[in-house]
Amino acid sequence: MTTESTLDTARSQLRRAVELLQLSENDWQTLSTPRRILEVAVPLRRDNGNVEMYKGFRVQYSTTRGPSKGGVRFHPDINMDETVALAMLMTWKCALTNLPYGGAKGGIAVDAHTLSLTENERLTRRYTSEILPIIGPERDIPAPDVGTDERNMAWMMDTYSVNAGFSVPGVVTGKPIVLGGSLGRTSATGDGVAISTIEALRVKGIDPKGATVAIQGFGKVGYWTAIALENFGLKIVAVSDVHGGSKGFKNVTEIWDHYQTHGNLNVPGSDKLTQDELLHLDVDVLIPAALSDAITEKTAPGIKAKIIVEGANAPTTPGGDAVINDKGILVVPDILANSGGVIVSYFEWVQDKQNYFWTSAEVKSNLNDIMMRSFKEVEEMAKSKKVSWREAAHMIGVARVAEAHRLRGLYP
Ligand code: NAD
Repeated sequence: MTTESTLDTARSQLRRAVELLQLSENDWQTLSTPRRILEVAVPLRRDNGNVEMYKGFRVQYSTTRGPSKGGVRFHPDINMDETVALAMLMTWKCALTNLPYGGAKGGIAVDAHTLSLTENERLTRRYTSEILPIIGPERDIPAPDVGTDERNMAWMMDTYSVNAGFSVPGVVTGKPIVLGGSLGRTSATGDGVAISTIEALRVKGIDPKGATVAIQGFGKVGYWTAIALENFGLKIVAVSDVHGGSKGFKNVTEIWDHYQTHGNLNVPGSDKLTQDELLHLDVDVLIPAALSDAITEKTAPGIKAKIIVEGANAPTTPGGDAVINDKGILVVPDILANSGGVIVSYFEWVQDKQNYFWTSAEVKSNLNDIMMRSFKEVEEMAKSKKVSWREAAHMIGVARVAEAHRLRGLYP
């Protein structure tokens, strides 16, 4: 898995959208260039007194349609290229769902599992203070991603607020509820993946009741997707984490409880799976919900699922995409399928701005409205232009950003 290829993937998707939209070479130059890139050194005093240096990143890919918005990832493999790629995808995702945001991404090249709680807090706070000049509720609003959660967001919000001299809840989303978080944010990405799955099943004429699902990645997105789909009557037959997969468990709660207690997916009575075995199961729906580059030229030929719903960002390389399209598998692309997270982040930011908080039912109903509207737009564009759903989703997002550029003009 090369991180460079995530940027190649994102750039090739943009190139295709620019071609399909018949945009100019000038548009390509503008759209393919990140607006602002920051690399910072993040020193950490370990609990034993040693000081270690980590690389931190924040990329504000676009601010044309509003403040930039995107997650903070703690993962040893992240680098600037991958962060640029993920910030680019956030830009098209926010435009596709018509949120008043640009796109951003950030993170630290660190394995969060090697940090104690106090080390994690110090690292998060120092990273926040290093990127502080460029973030803020009107500038750039971070959120959780791989390796971070609401605890990290609470520390980020506190670090920013202490420096401002007053509470600024709107500087991050995905916060704990008591600090101005939104009801429904924790499960939002999974809820959105589930809505996308139900719609994709409708398009394919498959009854959701009893439809089978395999999920790669059992973190925040994988788990909440599994719960939501089980509630819709689908059968989750397999899940995996970084160490491998498992099938044959009774239900999601059984395997999640075992995972929380024992730290592995080997529930008594279940069978172990390799990553490739999970991807190649004969299921109705395959949901990659881990990292990028899971579905490649090498892994795609063995995929038997009828539908792929991309919970992860950039899980499919262009080579993998070509194989899947040839096989006639319906792909709900990442910028549509996993947009539930940023949609409810937007609700959280709106609630923080207004100091007025919504009920869980309001959050869910508004999330459903935006997801369904975006889904219909992509479905119609794919049909009318005879393109894949990925191409359609990118065409809509990229066209909106290009139009905003045109209307704003060029300064000076
Ligand atoms: P997480 O850290 O909560 O979970 C990641 C999961 O992936 C873990 O179970 C981990 O063990 C597993 N994993 C890591 N490497 C793997 C591998 N090689 N094979 C199989 N499993 C592997 O992260 P998350 O927040 O669930 O994010 C997962 C994906 O969804 C990422 O691509 C992220 O960018 C994307 N995403 C997240 C959100 C969000 O709100 N958290 C929103 C949109 C998209």
